[in-house]
Amino acid sequence: MQEDVLSMSKHPVVLIPGDGIGPEVTAATQRVLAAAAAPIEWIVCQAGLAALAQGDDVLPQSTLDAIERCRIALKGPCTTPVGEGFTSVNVQLRKRLMLYAAVRPVRNLEGVPTRFAGIDLIIVRENTEGLYSGVENQVTDDVVMSMKIATQTACTRIAHWAFRFATQRRRRKITVFHKANIMKMTDGLFLRTARQAHQHEYPNIDYQEMIIDAGCMKLVQDPTQFDVLLLENLYGDVVSDLCAGLVGGLGVVPGANYGERGAVFEAVHGSAPDIAGQGVANPLALLMSAVMKLNHIAEDMDDRECGIIAERIKSAYNRALQDSEKTRDLGGSLGTEAFASAVIERLR
Ligand code: ATP
Repeated sequence: MQEDVLSMSKHPVVLIPGDGIGPEVTAATQRVLAAAAAPIEWIVCQAGLAALAQGDDVLPQSTLDAIERCRIALKGPCTTPVGEGFTSVNVQLRKRLMLYAAVRPVRNLEGVPTRFAGIDLIIVRENTEGLYSGVENQVTDDVVMSMKIATQTACTRIAHWAFRFATQRRRRKITVFHKANIMKMTDGLFLRTARQAHQHEYPNIDYQEMIIDAGCMKLVQDPTQFDVLLLENLYGDVVSDLCAGLVGGLGVVPGANYGERGAVFEAVHGSAPDIAGQGVANPLALLMSAVMKLNHIAEDMDDRECGIIAERIKSAYNRALQDSEKTRDLGGSLGTEAFASAVIERLR
């Protein structure tokens, strides 16, 4: 076994530790992947406050270049100043690398009791435009304005991506959340392109449209009625956290950002400055993102071994949760490193 591992070539993956709890959860994730003998060569790059502290740009060109070279990154959260300061690094990265599709699987985990059982949702979020355009203006002393942008190109691209993804993953239904009754042009375009993708190319997938406020109510009444949710940028952000709350919180929802030039895997949660440096953050969401990354390598680079290792890690963290080995956010008492150790002990 050891010889097989040594003979396997390693995949270069950019690792961005990030800010706040980022360095803690990335270190724990790296430790689990190393224990599982995942064939990964980490290329550590900085972004966010950590990059600024080194006298670099908040999103250094060298980090972008490294991701373009490797085509894969695992990223810890980067802190975004609220109401002032620089543009979100997370948003900049998605735009600069044109990572237009965010995917967040939301599922119940055994050992994490929640109000509903049987939740198995996938959120597909458009990642490049909408109210995240960053176009804000002071119009008069009294008026400020934020621009919501929708393009035919990006709406069509995400609609096709979502239907293709749903088809490949054998999902049954896509529901688009929108507010096209009020934002007739922008959300109207988002809706029209999704409808067209369904009618012209993907009639195999059931299709549903729902006004977002009603959709949120239905989500908290019975989330099991949904399968794949397709949303524009801001709605995707908000609904991701809502859905995380349905399955145990931000500590258990992973994510991936896909584009033509690469893929960046990151948890849905932010840098959680309130608990940073205390060793109590749940590393599971980033570990689950790393499992998505291994599966992506398995599929994209035809490396079966990565798929097997992903499955071993998944079984190990599932067993840890079943044995009530949990961090504080899930009602347990383990710290970040102790949870990682509990997963490592269960690797088979
Ligand atoms: P952002 O704007 O980047 O989404 P935020 O401050 O809105 O950041 P988070 O940083 O994700 O949101 O934190 C929201 C809450 O969830 C905080 O109370 C935080 O402590 C908690 N939290 C987030 N991630 C984790 C985690 N991995 N483990 C434990 N608690 C977490």
